[in-house]
Amino acid sequence: MHLQENIQQPSSKNTAQAMFSLNGKTAVVTGGGSGLGLAIAKALAGNGAKVIITGRDENKLQKACEEIGNACCYIPADLSQLQAIPAFVEQLIQRAQTIDILVNNAGINMKKDALDVTDEEFQNIILTNQQAVFALTREISRHMAAAQQGNIIMISSMAAHYGLPKVVAYTASKTAVEGMTRALAVELAEKGIRVNCIAPGFIATDMSAKALNSDKDRMQRVLARTPMRKLGHPDDVGYAAAFLASEGARFITGTVLAVDGGNSIGF
Ligand code: NAD
Repeated sequence: MHLQENIQQPSSKNTAQAMFSLNGKTAVVTGGGSGLGLAIAKALAGNGAKVIITGRDENKLQKACEEIGNACCYIPADLSQLQAIPAFVEQLIQRAQTIDILVNNAGINMKKDALDVTDEEFQNIILTNQQAVFALTREISRHMAAAQQGNIIMISSMAAHYGLPKVVAYTASKTAVEGMTRALAVELAEKGIRVNCIAPGFIATDMSAKALNSDKDRMQRVLARTPMRKLGHPDDVGYAAAFLASEGARFITGTVLAVDGGNSIGF
């Protein structure tokens, strides 16, 4: 067989624009009521997807849906309640029939000296950022596998790329997310599911404000090693997610895409 036979050539119907459209797709975005999740939901909806956002705060979710428009609806859920995840996924399927895209964005952070972190605090971060991500991905992947297609996007952090002080549990959880991305990408490829990860640099959201605004030295260090010399905008992550979710990224799986203004390669 010639290699070329395997390559789908663009036709007039299959233009570059169509390759980036998410028309007809349904996406689930966790933590979609605020920050990066809201920007991701907006970008996916802007490219044609129907989006179901989830999170713990119903008021925030409702406001986010109003901002995004008709393409968006919400189902509240606390994903740290692992035993409730299968029933939550059934609710999603009843609402959407199929789920084409899952963005595992929900996450929590805790800034504290490593030597003061208790086992309970460590476990709490791992539960939300790692175990809940796996449990939701497993349940939704079963439906994606039955449909022989799906697209999963994880959200990690620069904390998984270099040593950041005072975030030991967060770092452990986000490093695990990148490992899971690779392990799942390999296992799910034959079921038609792609799994990728976005590693945001420092993006201006409530979460980063908590970590940076009261710590001038940390903010200066962030900007000093970011060649683009600014924090990112949540939309920067949204657009990257819309790309990875699209057919335009059809040969990309198992990658970690840094969206960081060069922070991870800065001198
Ligand atoms: P954020 O606090 O604004 O958003 C986090 C969202 O997750 C919130 O909507 C929250 O309600 C939701 N969430 C938390 N725990 C949940 C739970 N148990 N069940 C359901 N929803 C839950 O923070 P953000 O900055 O938008 O962060 C979004 C993601 O991006 C996180 O995974 C974070 O670790 C990651 N990240 C952010 C930055 C940054 O600079 N902002 C950098 C790297 C990675």
